[in-house]
Parts: sequence; structure tokens; C-alpha cells
Amino acid sequence: MGFVACGFAKAEPVEDGFAAHFRRWLDLDYCADMDYMRRNVEMRLQPDLLVPGVRTIVSLAMNFMPQSRQPAISLYAQGKDYHDVMRQRMRQLMEDCGLEGRCFVDTAPVMERYWAWRSGIGIITQEGGFISIPGYGPTVFLGELFLTQESDRYDSPLPKKESGRGAVCPALTPDGLDARRCISYLTIEHRGPLPDSLRLGATFYGCDRCLRATPQFAESKPTAEPAFQPSEALLQMTPNDWRELTEEQYRSLFKGSAVKRAKYDGLKRNIGRWLK
Ligand code: SF4
Repeated sequence: MGFVACGFAKAEPVEDGFAAHFRRWLDLDYCADMDYMRRNVEMRLQPDLLVPGVRTIVSLAMNFMPQSRQPAISLYAQGKDYHDVMRQRMRQLMEDCGLEGRCFVDTAPVMERYWAWRSGIGIITQEGGFISIPGYGPTVFLGELFLTQESDRYDSPLPKKESGRGAVCPALTPDGLDARRCISYLTIEHRGPLPDSLRLGATFYGCDRCLRATPQFAESKPTAEPAFQPSEALLQMTPNDWRELTEEQYRSLFKGSAVKRAKYDGLKRNIGRWLK
């Protein structure tokens, strides 16, 4: 069904060290305007508050590395919106296998990277705290099945690797990502004007710098998954085309794409800064 990794973890409360790190990250205001991170904190740390009776958490990953890319857009957003693609596959998987519970793709209070690590499918990298899947690197989407069924076996976390290069960006701190200083957050989630001091690099939607800086990025390889490939029209866009982007073009270029999260006005704001 297109998944590159699958692991099983017992649905227990998130370990103390991870929970404390998360609470500290919130206390430092590193979540910026993402107020949804402040809501349902207990639910995020205790899976049975989200799905009563949950016994097993299955972590799944899909490779999103496109075969070719539009350089102005972050790697993960070149094709169709992963929320829709993955949710549809996961629902199908649950139906085919007679699984009971719920599935989530980045839209519920779930510690996704923690569960991916806990269920043995990947390691958490130092640069940006990505999950890296052996053989596929950090260019993966994650999804979780919260099942009320017990498994006869559970997976163990992979050994931690401390071979990272460390922080490559001032937004990356020992206490986690400070979203207020992160280009990815500012160009995707943030509404309103961009900070005057912000300079954009190669991309005006998202930022792949820390993703590319992880040593495990060398393991990333292009996927054959059609849903995550960019369209011909997107590939052909030039800086001048971006400057002239109309709302109609925007709607057709990004139909069914995660880029719509920034809205037309947000994208025009980003493009204006990018071309400066
Ligand atoms: S996405 Fe870009 S701006 Fe954000 S932490 Fe990574 S390198 Fe820094």
C-alpha cells in the first residue's frame, strides 16, 4: 500500500523524559502561534485519553522524496496533500485487516515522532528532531493507528545514534525547535506579516535546510509513489512566473496540495520576500 515502515508499540503514557521535554518546549513559547499545541496536552501524553481503550499504537511511514522537484517549494509539498493520501491508505489497511480503532495523520494530539521511535521504525535525529527510517532517511511522512486490539508482539526502539552534526540553524536549540525563528513555520503556519529580518533561501514555502543537513539524508531515495510527484505545471514555474502568480493559477497549481495551507495571500507574501 506504499508504506515503507511499520512498527508496533504498547499504548502506554509517553515516557517521562519526552513528556518533560515537551512541557518545557511549551513553557518556552517555542510553539509560537500554534495554539493547538497547547490544547489537549494531557491527551497528547496519554493515548487512552484520545482513544479510550487503546491498546496498541501502530506507526506507519511513507517515503515522500519526489523524483524531480520545483526548487521553490519544500520537498514534502511537491505532490498531493499527504494528510489525504495517507489517511485513505490507512483506512483501507484497517478495513482489509479487520483492525478496530482510529487512524491519525498529523491532525490530532499525537506525539508522532515519539511513537515512531517507540515502535522501532526510526531514530530521532539531532538536526530538527526528524524521524529517520533506516534505508529511507528523514524524508518520510508518519501516521498512526490507535487500535483497541492487543498485539501478540511489540517492537523495541532502535538504538540511539549520536552521530548527528548538531544544530545547523539558530531556530534549533537544545530545548527543541523555536518556531518563532523557523522559516518553515513562518512561511507555512504564520499569519500576518513576516518579520523584517527574515531572509528566505531557496524556498518560499517551507525550508529543507535542516532536513538536508541530517547525515541520514544521504539514505533518502526517490519514491515511485505517483501522489508525491510534482505536476509538469509546477515543475515549469520560474521566478518570474511566481512573481505574476494569479489566484486562479494558484488554485489550479495547488489543487489537493498541502501548499494551500498558506493560502493565496500567504504565498504572495512569501514570494514577495523571496524575490527581494
Ligand atoms: S526548517 Fe529551516 S529555519 Fe526551520 S529550523 Fe530547519 S533550517 Fe532552521
